[in-house]
Amino acid sequence: MLRICRVLCSRAGPSPGGWQPLSFDGGAFHLKGTGELTRALLVLRLCAWPPLVTHGLALQAWSQRLLGSRLSGALLRASIYGQFVAGETAEEVRGCVLQLQNLGLRPLLAVPTEEEPDSAVKTGEAWYEGNLSAMLRCVDLSRGLLETPDPTGTALMQLKMTALMSTRLCKQLTSWVRRPGDSLELSPERLAEAMDSGQDLRVSCLNTEQTRHLQASLSRLHRVVQHARAQHVRLLVDAEYTSLNPALSLLVAALATRWNSSGEGGPWVWNTYQAYLKDTYERLRRDAEAADRAGLAFGVKLVRGAYLDKEREMARLQETEDPTQPDYEATSQSYSRCLELMLTQVSHRGPMCHLMVASHNEDSVRQATKRMWELGIPPDGPVCFGQLLGMCDHVSLALGQAGYAVYKSIPYGSLEEVIPYLIRRAQENRSVLRGARREQELLSQELRRRLLGGRAMELRA
Ligand SMILES: Cc1cc2nc3c(=O)[nH]c(=O)nc-3n(C[C@H](O)[C@H](O)[C@H](O)COP(=O)(O)OP(=O)(O)OC[C@H]3O[C@@H](n4cnc5c(N)ncnc54)[C@H](O)[C@@H]3O)c2cc1C
Repeated sequence: MLRICRVLCSRAGPSPGGWQPLSFDGGAFHLKGTGELTRALLVLRLCAWPPLVTHGLALQAWSQRLLGSRLSGALLRASIYGQFVAGETAEEVRGCVLQLQNLGLRPLLAVPTEEEPDSAVKTGEAWYEGNLSAMLRCVDLSRGLLETPDPTGTALMQLKMTALMSTRLCKQLTSWVRRPGDSLELSPERLAEAMDSGQDLRVSCLNTEQTRHLQASLSRLHRVVQHARAQHVRLLVDAEYTSLNPALSLLVAALATRWNSSGEGGPWVWNTYQAYLKDTYERLRRDAEAADRAGLAFGVKLVRGAYLDKEREMARLQETEDPTQPDYEATSQSYSRCLELMLTQVSHRGPMCHLMVASHNEDSVRQATKRMWELGIPPDGPVCFGQLLGMCDHVSLALGQAGYAVYKSIPYGSLEEVIPYLIRRAQENRSVLRGARREQELLSQELRRRLLGGRAMELRA
């Protein structure tokens, strides 16, 4: 009862009297246990230590040799794995999600697939077919985790396209899409038709083997989306590198023509837009207008972008223009413009346009909530928020308590599957982990408060 009162009292944001900014001062930590807060503080401190992130895999191998795999596994489970991963079995994932739901947060499951193995060429389609099975299971799990038994309730799930299709083929399609005048042969409509009918597709830029792989990949994508649609699970396609993204967007556009049409109750397939790319705002504007003209529902996950260092390195090696914004401020400005554009779209198109504000940044989240209030967009409508499991709980909890729809992106799987994935994510998100200082301060503050509060009680007794 006391907890419910506290939650209601600390609600902020949309109110009939006027705009009240949300407070991200860690007040919402009272909902979490001391053990959880202590682990979060220790793990975030560890992750902010650059050598651990740089040499993560080597350190893991070294600790396995020194301590044995059982002890080193137990240590990882009690620390990094426990902080950022939901668990290994469906039961463990359910337990983690139940805890989140009790805190007002929702799950966004992500199958943690690593880059395709070098041997993918030799193993043929087997690696991608294995990933397809994992994704179909993830759809079922996402559906089963829905809080409401309402059969029309919807869940969200992340989808990494390069788990179903080779990066080599994506690069090939990207260069084809970029060639002026040549792209008609690979129009979204033609790809959608091939997906639906399963009929052979002839593409002049691909050889027989590549065409076969494209056909098999289209069939995999079709099966995932078909199953997700039947289970009422919306698929949020991840954005990756600029060498792949045009191909991924082409495939999303093909899926959208089939699954995001107005009668379907979608959008069922969303794309991700990375604000750190110089051309993102224009692309987003064009795509939003095109969806509107075609009467298609439009779903967007808006992120800053995770592959900054690699994009710059690639541009340097290929002696091409750096596609990323020159500095952090420019990325934030771009994020803010894209956010404004999408919120305006949502206010015009209502449930035909959905947005996930996928960011840990307090200013971006504040901007979104303020503009939602000004534009009359309900907190639990077509706009939602996304943060990673184990990161920025002070932001997620404050949003959840204020009645906004907040999703935690949740990887799951065995230690062996997930640790390499986590280390790579940590390497891509170094700046975020370093920037988690404020979260560390808030965690220390709350733990100090509890410790001193406990001492004061003891002294009084
Ligand atoms: C639910 C969810 C889904 C995600 N999905 C994807 C995805 O599909 N694809 C993807 O790429 N990322 C994805 N991300 C990661 C995301 O792109 C960011 O890396 C991460 O969220 C950090 O950005 P921020 O807004 O949270 O935090 P902030 O700390 O405010 O921003 C950090 C980001 O700013 C940018 N930045 C930092 N320094 C500079 C600089 N010098 N110059 C230019 N820009 C700079 C980088 O993009 C960096 O990641 C996802 C994140 C979440 C929470």
